[in-house]
Amino acid sequence: MTVNCVRCHQDKPALEAPPYPGDLGEEIVAKICNDCWNEWLQAEIIVINEFRLNFMEPRANEILVRHLREFLALDQPAPTGE
Ligand SMILES: [Zn+2]
Repeated sequence: MTVNCVRCHQDKPALEAPPYPGDLGEEIVAKICNDCWNEWLQAEIIVINEFRLNFMEPRANEILVRHLREFLALDQPAPTGE
């Protein structure tokens, strides 16, 4: 399955399974290619270290998701045309 990725604007293989439960995971599968997801996995480590995120705190996940959405350009309008 390919996706017209909102981050790199190319038709590329999608993720095989949602990386998160719920709507966020579905949104990532629908909008983001596997390559960009792998780039996020590298960036995620940097974000966790930079903000010293402690996942015992609910806030930590909020911060991570905010950076994820920004990094993956999830809140930008989807490209038009297939
Ligand atoms: Zn991409």
